[in-house]
Amino acid sequence: MTTMITKYKFKCPSCGHDVLEEIVTNAVVSSAVDSLIYDTEKNQTYIDYCDNEINDYGDTDRFQCKNCGMPVLDNDGKKITFYGDLDKGAGITPVKNDK
Ligand SMILES: [Zn+2]
Repeated sequence: MTTMITKYKFKCPSCGHDVLEEIVTNAVVSSAVDSLIYDTEKNQTYIDYCDNEINDYGDTDRFQCKNCGMPVLDNDGKKITFYGDLDKGAGITPVKNDK
């Protein structure tokens, strides 16, 4: 049996922009600090981070247009908060698979 994969792309119904943004709340971000760097010219101390890790991804509040902020709505006009429902969202359409 062949697995069929359909790719979907976003195009904002409001402004036509094609970048979708996921807005997450309650995320916990853990950043490991390697060292502190003091800049004498700016008289300010900066943090030099190690590779950052996200420990708790949090809750998706909505998906929205990166450009104008319009949330992706379902057929009932409600905000989509689960990525598995995005294919039913306004402005999300299937595209032909890239080769
Ligand atoms: Zn938009």
